[in-house]
Amino acid sequence: MSVGRRIRVTGTVQGVGFRPFVYREAVRLGLVGTVRNDHAGVLIEVDGAPDRVAELCRCLVDRPPPLARIERLEASDLVHVAEPVGGGFAIVASQGHGSPEVPVGVDAATCAECLAEVTDPTDRRFGYPFANCTNCGPRYTIVVSVPYDRPATTMASFPLCPACRQEYDDPSDRRFHAQPNACPVCGPRLAWRSVSDDPGVTEGEALTAAAACLAAGGTVAVKGLGGYHLAVDATSRAAVTTLRRRKHRDEKPFAVMVPDVVTARDLVVLDDGAEAVLTSSRRPIVLAPRRPGLQVADAVAPGLPELGLLLAYTPLHHLLLQAVGRPLVMTSGNVSDEPIAQADDDAFARLAPLVDGWLSHDRPIHIRCDDSVVRAVAGRTQVLRRSRGYAPEPMALGHVACRQVLAVGAELKSTVSVVKGQQLVTSHHIGDLEHPTAYASFLQAVEHLCGLFGVRPDVVVHDLHPEYLSTKWALDTDLPTLGVQHHHAHVASCLAEHRHPGPVLGVAFDGLGYGCDRTLWGGEFLAADLDGCTRLGHLRPVALPGGVAAVREPWRMAVAWVCAAMGADRAEREAARLDERGRALIGLLEAGSAPTTTSVGRLFDAVAALLGLRSRLTYEGQAAIELEALARTVPRGQAPALPVGLGVEGTTPVLDPGPLIAAVVAGRDDGVPLAVLAAGFHEGLGQAAARLAGDLAGAQDLDTVVLTGGVFQNSRLTAVVESALVTAGLRVLLHHEVPPNDAGISVGQAAIAAHTTRVDGR
Ligand code: ZN
Ligand code: ZN
Ligand code: FE
Repeated sequence: MSVGRRIRVTGTVQGVGFRPFVYREAVRLGLVGTVRNDHAGVLIEVDGAPDRVAELCRCLVDRPPPLARIERLEASDLVHVAEPVGGGFAIVASQGHGSPEVPVGVDAATCAECLAEVTDPTDRRFGYPFANCTNCGPRYTIVVSVPYDRPATTMASFPLCPACRQEYDDPSDRRFHAQPNACPVCGPRLAWRSVSDDPGVTEGEALTAAAACLAAGGTVAVKGLGGYHLAVDATSRAAVTTLRRRKHRDEKPFAVMVPDVVTARDLVVLDDGAEAVLTSSRRPIVLAPRRPGLQVADAVAPGLPELGLLLAYTPLHHLLLQAVGRPLVMTSGNVSDEPIAQADDDAFARLAPLVDGWLSHDRPIHIRCDDSVVRAVAGRTQVLRRSRGYAPEPMALGHVACRQVLAVGAELKSTVSVVKGQQLVTSHHIGDLEHPTAYASFLQAVEHLCGLFGVRPDVVVHDLHPEYLSTKWALDTDLPTLGVQHHHAHVASCLAEHRHPGPVLGVAFDGLGYGCDRTLWGGEFLAADLDGCTRLGHLRPVALPGGVAAVREPWRMAVAWVCAAMGADRAEREAARLDERGRALIGLLEAGSAPTTTSVGRLFDAVAALLGLRSRLTYEGQAAIELEALARTVPRGQAPALPVGLGVEGTTPVLDPGPLIAAVVAGRDDGVPLAVLAAGFHEGLGQAAARLAGDLAGAQDLDTVVLTGGVFQNSRLTAVVESALVTAGLRVLLHHEVPPNDAGISVGQAAIAAHTTRVDGR
């Protein structure tokens, strides 16, 4: 007896070796029928013994190819299964011309099989830095247009040799339709170029030359998947210090690349979750607690309790690490905070003052894509930067969008998102739009994302900040627009991640975001869903003396808060000890002419400055990161919560950190250990925030609280607020996959616009 079945598989199932996999399994099970790609995913029609057909379905679900992500598998009866020409089972041509829902996959780390070939002296790909297959290799970074086919990628200029062609055409081969398939005969080639312009080395000597340069303490620009890295020996203090000086990067931590998880375990503490992310084919940088006495120079991440580690993710990385025999700093190939260099000419010109040589190759990178960053602390992982290995993987909305959407995000950590059908797709990390290169990248990302996914936006969603370049761009288009308040977008991004429709009580704590009253918000309690939001409470507003200067110089916020909490006289004394320009600030504060803010990020800055940690930043978020690090040296429960007041402004409840500021100053002057004050600050602020959130949720009959905004990258604060809310019987939603910082703004904007038909104007 035999049965016929039609099996529809949806999710990420194209361009990931799914059809060859189905073919091999079907042949193994002696089934008759066909498998094909179509607009919705993969369609299998199969005939055979019932238990064999069931077995096929089971292995599709239980052990699909590594890069496939199955969202749904639906089987229905089929009376007549057409037998392919020649009988048996066959892969047949794609049907229809509709564009696939997932046109291109994410870049994936070298798989075990490819790595085995590259390290096998008898294999034809031995030592070849660009080996890949359907289970691994470049995708998003090489795609120029759709459909995803070799001529539409940057591999177009490398015609397949006969051996590679045979693999490409053979349905039973791991490289069947592997678009970037390559070998030493036909594929990209490695090249070494040194700044000293000495006689060039041959292709075969390039890797050795680069390794020798690194081993001698040199800096090498290494062309990777999404751009150039700057590499130095991570164990050499001199090499790391030289890199810092050349890159104009004083203290911002560098990431370190190691060959495997065994080496990683020697450097940092990894729990199961952290290890799973670190070894996944996405291969992000994982921030994890460093081990004492680790074999990495202190200058890599000065003074921080965590280290960012990533595993080699291309054959080139594996070969280079093997040749050098030491962990390597791998940081974005750029000066200061500019976008990562991607084009070869640009890398040669822009990186010349920074490096001793370039390890390059002739496969162009179409889309610039930085390494992704995931933080793994206290048994939890949280994506902080969602880029290479994650973009452009769609997120299911959980409903059909009412229109096609383009969301242009915020300004710092910029990303853009589009919505079509049931899917929301977010771009790679673009960076700070004020950089001309980043702005150009933003324009390219908009065009590329819309092109790849066939999106013709019915609406362009933007932040309310009139000075954001993304806002200006949106308002300059001829399309209908929708402005979404910054913190509403933060809350919505978390709702979208959890496919929760709301309403919820959203606690949005961040640096600065433009508020509905045209002041800068950043400590908000909102009742929100995907249709709208109401501001129910906030942090007590305080002066933001010097505007953007206050962001870079925490001492200004310290003076502003002491003035607000303890009066001008006391503030004058604090000002004098913090900065020589401090006294001048008091006049400004007393005149009341400075803009105000409710930002919790700026409150962290103020406390860090008052504790003498940092009065000027060398990178964004530095003071808050250091304050959290200090607090975490004291276990929870061993530092009393510092007092936070609760006041009202009009009829709106406000959280008043005035008493907390006074307690910090008094404690410091009384010689209380700074770590205890830092921990007490987290405890006090967190408990007070949870209390207010709980009260507001109760009054509004809401049972769920969202914690969002860049401040909730802070694991200690998150733990305090979350545990208090859970104790109060509330459900808490946190960010895992969508960054809580401004990289998530375009996600929230897109989710809101996909849900409502509201428009502001054209
Ligand atoms: Zn592979
Ligand atoms: Zn070849
Ligand atoms: Fe924000």
